[in-house]
Amino acid sequence: MVKNKKKIVILGGGFAGVECARQLESEFSNNSEIELVMVSEDNFLLFTPMLPQVASGMIETRHIVLPIRTICEKTKFYEGRIKNIDPYGKLVNLWGTGDKRSISIHYDFLVVALGSETNFFGMADVEKNAYTMKTLNDAVMLRNRVIDMLEQAENETNPILRKSFLNFVVVGGGFAGIETAGELMDLLLDARKHYPTIHKDDIRVVVLEALPMILPGFNQKLAEFAKDKMMERGIEIRLKTAVTSFDGNEVTVKSLGENPNSMDESKVDAIRTKTLVWTAGVTPVNTIKRSMFKTERGKVIINEYLEVPEFPGVFAIGDCALFLDPDTKRPFAPTAQIAEAQAKTAANNLSALIQNSSKEKFEYHSKGQMAIIGKRSGIATFMGMNISGFWAWLIWRNVYLSKISTFDKKVRVFLDWTIDLFFDRDISRLKLMKRETEKEYKLLDEVDDVW
Ligand SMILES: Cc1cc2nc3c(=O)[nH]c(=O)nc-3n(C[C@H](O)[C@H](O)[C@H](O)COP(=O)(O)OP(=O)(O)OC[C@H]3O[C@@H](n4cnc5c(N)ncnc54)[C@H](O)[C@@H]3O)c2cc1C
Repeated sequence: MVKNKKKIVILGGGFAGVECARQLESEFSNNSEIELVMVSEDNFLLFTPMLPQVASGMIETRHIVLPIRTICEKTKFYEGRIKNIDPYGKLVNLWGTGDKRSISIHYDFLVVALGSETNFFGMADVEKNAYTMKTLNDAVMLRNRVIDMLEQAENETNPILRKSFLNFVVVGGGFAGIETAGELMDLLLDARKHYPTIHKDDIRVVVLEALPMILPGFNQKLAEFAKDKMMERGIEIRLKTAVTSFDGNEVTVKSLGENPNSMDESKVDAIRTKTLVWTAGVTPVNTIKRSMFKTERGKVIINEYLEVPEFPGVFAIGDCALFLDPDTKRPFAPTAQIAEAQAKTAANNLSALIQNSSKEKFEYHSKGQMAIIGKRSGIATFMGMNISGFWAWLIWRNVYLSKISTFDKKVRVFLDWTIDLFFDRDISRLKLMKRETEKEYKLLDEVDDVW
């Protein structure tokens, strides 16, 4: 091992972590004194914009994941769950499991890109009973649930129970919620053909949104278009409506008037459903909240160089970092586009630190925004133009297909889309495995030193 070797450790293999690793790989490809290391729970990058299409069965599960080892070939990869970060000792500790020893990794420079997880805003019953749309597992679970509900409803004679099987509630009118609701409707209408007693009118998909409009951040006309188009397709959209509880059978909602905190019984309502999909917000992962970094709203506070002020050489990027939009003075929305832009700046600044040159400030210029709403329709702000309907949907497909970084996955997704034009969705319901539980193991020294 070279004595003066500097180790850059990247935590998280999401959009931010992977983009940062790839930038650093090209910057330091011929520099044997720099060692790049990545630690992430999963050994793949999940292409989240296509997650709702996995949930609807349009895209095969494996086609939207990119193995880290194939896209960051010059980075040493550890598959593991981070237990804690010690910025004073410059150490990252990983959990052990029944099959995996816990380890510690030393770093000289650190990039924290641990992303976010679903935020239930303290509603324990919702957390226990709701489905989510954040991980690959979530998408597979939801798809199986939807098929299961159709199976149950087909033979159910009790009309109330049958109704609750066929009512699907999506909470949250952001990217994830709207795209999930659109895809869910497509799946239900497609799969229904195989269930002779279920008619189109029996199926109900409801979107609940606390704000007065869906898709905040989009041009208002486009958001309005998306809402009208989805309602035309039979998706109910209830704005200014907040969920107060969900016991697995019934979701209680409250209409928000001028004063959202007022408790007016006439504004409380309930929807019977067995399937509630919660996409109403994200919060940084617990590892960040428990860390020694200063946080606000759970996110790591960083300076204009994306560096953690108290710990020079430590950067935080993506969904887990708090960076205020200089125009609105509000945090940027958690998007892959921003995560990747921050990754580029962090990589440049790391390289500046190593080469003793000056760092650059993070400046964000949006390349546009787009969302698909089901049935070959979408909205897009693209190259300064506002586009809606089929063309926006087509642009979405082209742009996101181009963003998948490996050729084989591009082809697989393209083939899935093409097959979907000619064939019905598969309605086989798969049984799933349980998540492995964490288990404390004896802590060993840094792996390099052990083997
Ligand atoms: C359904 C859906 C649709 C979306 N659509 C869009 C879209 O169309 N356009 C867009 O710009 N954005 C979209 N987003 C948002 C986008 O996915 C996120 O903003 C983006 O993933 C943030 O990147 P990140 O690298 O910060 O975090 P992530 O991509 O979440 O990556 C974090 C990584 O850290 C790992 N990790 C977390 N905790 C630990 C731990 N303790 N130990 C080890 N590893 C850990 C995770 O496994 C993950 O690999 C969508 C999100 C969802 C859920």
